[in-house]
Amino acid sequence: MPDPAASSSPLDLPVATIWGVGPERTFQLGRLDIHTIGDLLLHGPRRHEDRRHSKKIAELEPGEAATTRGKVVAAGLKRWAKSSRSVVEVIVEDDSGRLYLRWWNLPFMEKVFAPGDELFIYGKVGAKKPKSIDHPETEVIEAGDELFIHINRITPIYPLTEGLPQRSVRSAMWRALEFVHGKVPDEKRAILGGSWCDRETALRKLHFPEVPGDDEEGRRRLAMDEFLDLQLQIQRRRLKLEQNSQPLPCAGDNSLIRPYLARLKFQLTGAQTRVLREIRTDLGGKVPMRRLLQGDVGSGKTVVAACAALMAIESGYNVLLMAPTEILAEQHARTFRNGFEPLGIPVSLQTGSIKTAADAQRVMGELAFGGGSKPRNKAHGAVVIGTHALVQEGFGMEKIGLVIIDEQHKFGVAQREALLRKGRYPHLLVMTATPIPRTLGLTLYGDLDVSVLDELPAGRGRIRTFVRDGKSLPKVWEFIRQKLKEGRQAYIVYSRLEEEDTAAGVKAVAKEAEKLEPILSPWRVGMVHGRMKSEEKDAVMEAFRENRIQVLLATSVIEVGVDVPNSTVMVIENAEQFGLAQLHQLRGRIGRGGHDSFCILVANSKTAESLQRLKIMESTTDGFRIAEEDLMLRGPGDLIGQQQSGLPKLRFGDLLMDRVLLEEARRIASDHLRNESGRTT
Ligand code: ADP
Ligand code: MG
Repeated sequence: MPDPAASSSPLDLPVATIWGVGPERTFQLGRLDIHTIGDLLLHGPRRHEDRRHSKKIAELEPGEAATTRGKVVAAGLKRWAKSSRSVVEVIVEDDSGRLYLRWWNLPFMEKVFAPGDELFIYGKVGAKKPKSIDHPETEVIEAGDELFIHINRITPIYPLTEGLPQRSVRSAMWRALEFVHGKVPDEKRAILGGSWCDRETALRKLHFPEVPGDDEEGRRRLAMDEFLDLQLQIQRRRLKLEQNSQPLPCAGDNSLIRPYLARLKFQLTGAQTRVLREIRTDLGGKVPMRRLLQGDVGSGKTVVAACAALMAIESGYNVLLMAPTEILAEQHARTFRNGFEPLGIPVSLQTGSIKTAADAQRVMGELAFGGGSKPRNKAHGAVVIGTHALVQEGFGMEKIGLVIIDEQHKFGVAQREALLRKGRYPHLLVMTATPIPRTLGLTLYGDLDVSVLDELPAGRGRIRTFVRDGKSLPKVWEFIRQKLKEGRQAYIVYSRLEEEDTAAGVKAVAKEAEKLEPILSPWRVGMVHGRMKSEEKDAVMEAFRENRIQVLLATSVIEVGVDVPNSTVMVIENAEQFGLAQLHQLRGRIGRGGHDSFCILVANSKTAESLQRLKIMESTTDGFRIAEEDLMLRGPGDLIGQQQSGLPKLRFGDLLMDRVLLEEARRIASDHLRNESGRTT
């Protein structure tokens, strides 16, 4: 146990320091991850109850949620249906009338109350005769309770854990606030403007508001601290980059881009040209590029990446490109080789782990000899494409001018930084198809400049989306046969999320393939999943690309990047198990050629909510709208991919609701850092 005198802040003291918090409460609070006084003070109330004006029982209106108080006059338990069903009924009264409190099938509630108990009651009045509330929240008022903490005020109601009474948390909170009075550290106070309250006041208002609205004022101050921490961290990283980096001239001279574009079968879109101009400016700038390229699925980010790579290569530098899956890395290697090897630029692929010095030698050796058959132009750089294997310690490369990360949302900030460390402040281009709502973008990518590809290449067929249930599958197979007959190809995405990449999941996919083969014959069905060896995966993907296989049965390993324009039908089974943003990604595999495409979401779920969710996919192909819906429905974690986003957990800040606050934090952080660096230089 730390010596209290040595502790720098009372907030770091164990929660048991507080009077009245004994071993049992300490244990229960521990289950809520509350160990120190500081932890306790950050345990915000779930809601507040205005107990200054509780209603008389006679004044309670049906359908209205209200607070009242009364004395228990009787409590009883009724059972029926062979004791399997029960109701506990507690009658309370005040000087205006009687109220029935009922708990269905919770027989132990009978023991909670005794006649004579004085109760606070919160809930919605259901029936009028007799006046009753089902499953109310209650709190017994005990003799000796400090009325100014629990009763005659706007009272906090906390999230609890088993055995921990509301009153204990509230008392502990009150005492904790008294204990830390005048000693709450407040580093941000100095950089915030005058209208903000100090941190101690914020905590007090959050827990024990004097007037309605105090709690929100307190929450906003605490949220501000969280946003400021984030923004300072992001902007310091940027500042450090500006101070420590050297200009790295990578804008090139067009000598390779010109012949590269001439060999392409299409013209760049206006958006692609504009973004390339932005990139070229960055690559010739004083500070290394830090750019996010956001473009919906199919908007043509790969060509932009290739042109950016060419600029660096023209300037004599090497380029690293990292993709989240082997399938995608392999596809990029193919695309880049097609375009680059005729120009004498070596392209090497690195997906497996680099375990030995010999492995590293091999990669470097391939590059030295140019990989392709054409003699290599010595003045030019090379491209290495890989998965996260590139981040490994064993991998290294000289003269890295540009690092490109495809589908950035699949990687975290840590991986991004690790890859950058392979060079000396190289330029960075990250690409994503997940449109990030602005609040999230400020948080996740606050240190990046953003370019948007807001134009799809012309001549794309339409994508139509249908939600169907399992019963329609025979019709779905018939539809696929029709499209195959017309010469198209199809994806069937089959996923059991938890099972994916496990032996059971693989077996399920294999069984599905067996079932489909006779249904779809004479057309050929191939299969890819996460457990296959990369050579096997490559072979299947190649066969599919060359139309030797017409139907590809896959798990969500094909979610990102895969580009086979002739494949125009996608069936997603168990669609309800996917997030909307992920469905949008999957659907982005079709609609890449001139033919109309069809996405069929097969959902076996009966719940209205999940069907409702899928209907959004029917109504729009706008990735931005879909991402916002997903953010609303499932929170930021799902949208950006688990914890790997590097996004810290926010206790008080809300990325959906606090946009204005977040913008303010960004401005305050930037003003502060500018002042700070103004002082030191
Ligand atoms: P994404 O942005 O999803 O990564 P890709 O880079 O895979 O998209 O491009 C999708 C498809 O569009 C590819 O087949 C690519 O060759 C093609 N494409 C890219 N740019 C153009 C363009 N300007 N005109 C026509 N087709 C294009
Ligand atoms: Mg892509």
